[in-house]
Amino acid sequence: SPFPIKLSGPVIKGFGRGSRELGIPTANIPADGLKEYPDLESGVYYGVVALDPGRFMYTSGETANGDGNGGGKKSTTTVFPAVLSIGFNPYYKNTVRSVEIHIMAPFAPNGPAEAESQAQEKHFHKLPDFYGTNLNLLILGYIRPEYDYVSLEALVEDIRVDCEVARRSLARDAYACYLFGDDSSSSS
Ligand code: ADP
Ligand code: MG
Repeated sequence: SPFPIKLSGPVIKGFGRGSRELGIPTANIPADGLKEYPDLESGVYYGVVALDPGRFMYTSGETANGDGNGGGKKSTTTVFPAVLSIGFNPYYKNTVRSVEIHIMAPFAPNGPAEAESQAQEKHFHKLPDFYGTNLNLLILGYIRPEYDYVSLEALVEDIRVDCEVARRSLARDAYACYLFGDDSSSSS
């Protein structure tokens, strides 16, 4: 397996279609780094994103989930589960490969309990824009090839499923080190 594959770069402007047409923002980074992986298939992948801590901090747990237990437990992170597409986006007939990353709600710090994760996902609003900041991506696994779509609705539906698959995959113990790895060692 070629994973993990490391890609990083500044968040660049795409066509603005993620948010506007799909309601699913995707942070685009340059595809240059893919030159080292010429055999990497186009398709949908899951992975982990680290945003620049100097420019971006996300505090989770601010929304009480109503059960009164563990409410108010806050944690701050710059590391997020992510689902991404690498390819030409056949639906849009692009001519150059792109790397487009949708960032999802962070897992609870003490483990990705399914129910808790879904509750967080619901409360996860669009982040403030972070164009121009450096994004570090670790691609950890492959979900599916790229498909062409007859409708935007069909595309959006598949992306929703991809998000679920990505979250479930990243919930495996083997990935805890990437999602909850101790920050002190990764900063050196
Ligand atoms: P573009 O075509 O320029 O990539 P999008 O409509 O896809 O525009 O929106 C992507 C931008 O939205 C990102 O570059 C980032 O600044 C912002 N953004 C906000 N929330 C998210 C998120 N959850 N995942 C990815 N990008 C996000
Ligand atoms: Mg985008």
